[in-house]
Amino acid sequence: MFLKKKNSLENGAGSLISSKFFKDQHLSADFILGAIDDGVVMVDRNKVIHLFNRAAANITGWAATEAVGKDFTAIMPLIDNKGNPLPPEQHPFIQALVSGRQVRSSDCILNSRNGKQMAISVVVSPIMERPGKPADTVVAVFRDVTTEKAQEQQRSDFISTASHEMRTPITAIEGYLSLALNDKITKIDDNARKYLEKAHTSTEHLGQLFQDLLTSSKADDGRLASNPVVMEMGEVVSQVTEAEQFRAKEKNLELKYIVSSSKDVAGGKVVRPFYYCFVDPIRMNEVLQNIIDNAVKYTPEGSVTVRLTGDASTIQIQVQDTGPGIAAEDIPHLFQKFYRVDSSATRTIGGTGLGLYICKRIIELYDGRIWVESQLDHGSTFFINLPRLTTEQALQKQKNQASMVSPSVN
Ligand code: ADP
Repeated sequence: MFLKKKNSLENGAGSLISSKFFKDQHLSADFILGAIDDGVVMVDRNKVIHLFNRAAANITGWAATEAVGKDFTAIMPLIDNKGNPLPPEQHPFIQALVSGRQVRSSDCILNSRNGKQMAISVVVSPIMERPGKPADTVVAVFRDVTTEKAQEQQRSDFISTASHEMRTPITAIEGYLSLALNDKITKIDDNARKYLEKAHTSTEHLGQLFQDLLTSSKADDGRLASNPVVMEMGEVVSQVTEAEQFRAKEKNLELKYIVSSSKDVAGGKVVRPFYYCFVDPIRMNEVLQNIIDNAVKYTPEGSVTVRLTGDASTIQIQVQDTGPGIAAEDIPHLFQKFYRVDSSATRTIGGTGLGLYICKRIIELYDGRIWVESQLDHGSTFFINLPRLTTEQALQKQKNQASMVSPSVN
């Protein structure tokens, strides 16, 4: 039903309130705020609470009369997963006040009045939005997601345990099938060999699936081991590319590695720039292997080109192929769990649909970004951006790490 303009009140913030309906039903804004099941809190730049609805009171354990006028850090203290108070700069209310932008967080832990710790998801919006400028007032809408988080954790634990347990028998089956296929050990006819080879391929696939499931569930609940160190990206990219040469040659594909900004220095010597970053080399290997492996796997003919480039603050790795390309409607889903493109060009090629999801989770661990640009029949280019360290920063971080590892001389 459309509201008639004369019976409604446009409040200048894009909302429309039917004043007649309000009057007829004896409703007030206060009444409506009380009926909302999500906590609603308004806070000014001095951290003082000015609005606190009924749901906010239920979740935090503070009555609205107690909360209004108080500092929000006392009424809604957030803690990290070790139980320590969250540093002010990580508090979503402060972030929104300082940045003047909307801040969303789905994994805050609230220390409620009775000492109960609850998971909350929160969206904090500045009221007078002047993007980039500090806000005068922010409104936070939050809800208790403790039950959902616990269920998520249970699901993740189940997947972790199941995939871990299933890897052991799968490894044994794979081993026995390899023995059965070894003609120095067994004698089998051609038909049996054909079936055993198929069984072996499927078992390998199952093993990879369990491994990927284990890695992705660890990534989901923050248990993915990551030991970042200072490393030079050029070395890692060239090693992974080299290791993939064999598979590329098998398919008659040319696999090239180009460091784009090599430069000539006096004496005619070519020196390539050092691209330092702070990541776990094992995790970075996994990502690069996955992306280059995909490029080789999905490209029937032509070439795969790996490029390393960057500017003062960013390292960029590009993996470009001459494969079938990816349709525009598939691109937004490509980095989601289990997403596999249902096209005739790629459907028949084996995979788990978890590789790109895992890559994204890993790259995000290091504040990086991964994305793809592609067009059907025109190949694909996968991009990875990572924060770049200057040589001085790299040396300093290396020194800090060394002093943490080696015992004091005195
Ligand atoms: P998978 O194990 O299926 O390869 P990924 O998560 O690595 O899982 O990739 C998801 C899907 O993205 C693949 O199934 C494939 O359809 C598509 N894809 C990935 N890389 C490419 C590529 N270089 N060219 C075309 N399609 C690709």
